[in-house]
Amino acid sequence: MGRIRIAARVAVAIGALLQGAGPTLAAEHYAGPIIDTHAHIRTSDDNGLTDEHPRGTAALRALDQAAGVQRSALIVMARKGDMAATRALNDALLAAVAADPQHFYPIASVHPADGDAALSELERLARLGVREIKLHPNSQQFDVADPAVARVTEKAGQLGMAVLFDSYNPLDTNQLGKLMMLSFQQPNTRFIFAHMGFTQFRELQTLATMRKLGRGGNVWFDISAIAPAYAGSPVQPEFVWTLRRHGMDHVLMGSDWPVDTPATAVAAVRALGLTADEERLVLHDNAAKLVGVD
Ligand SMILES: [Zn+2]
Repeated sequence: MGRIRIAARVAVAIGALLQGAGPTLAAEHYAGPIIDTHAHIRTSDDNGLTDEHPRGTAALRALDQAAGVQRSALIVMARKGDMAATRALNDALLAAVAADPQHFYPIASVHPADGDAALSELERLARLGVREIKLHPNSQQFDVADPAVARVTEKAGQLGMAVLFDSYNPLDTNQLGKLMMLSFQQPNTRFIFAHMGFTQFRELQTLATMRKLGRGGNVWFDISAIAPAYAGSPVQPEFVWTLRRHGMDHVLMGSDWPVDTPATAVAAVRALGLTADEERLVLHDNAAKLVGVD
């Protein structure tokens, strides 16, 4: 009984504190600029994206303005075995960014199976100012445990490039384990796990535990696709709890456009019940710090 009375007094005291602090502590949202860290650009008719995805950046630019997104990534994905095509794809990406550098920043790509040629392309991209690359095990059809992948991610780390990995692969249920091992083996490379493992996100609790041992701080979660999937669902509390355990300073908003619109992705983040400070980190500050864009 005594304990209950004390708890009640504490609750009343906290309530009084909250009221005294005024509206700033109420369910308020971050209202500043937003960075979308995951959006795809279609550069030609044959780069594997759907007909609903218009070529170029005009459509995305309009969607960003409607959603309060002031900066957006543009992503391409390289194919295996045709370095001329890979360079042309990355050049098309850089041309699109150069047309609107205040709004867009590039996430270029290589294919790990291209070996030394892929490493040379990374060096060329770094000289051109690229700070992030995309690798997609399922679309690019490679195994994360292939040593060729480790060569690419190590090189990217040496060049100061972050590596955005699609982290959901229904064909390889061990993939999250392989990604985590790679991130432990290469602490000097910054990894972003896109979609946060999606339906397998619970596995990533391992990273939070490893951070107690000083590992795992080089992994960021991009919550594109997963936030719209779980916002408002019965899974939402565990999803948010897992983000907090990992660290809200390592979480990034993404639309994965054309999968979701920027407005849908931003609304999903705002529906998670985060504090305004957490929203600011996820919607802007973490990306600004990680990729050096603002
Ligand atoms: Zn994507």
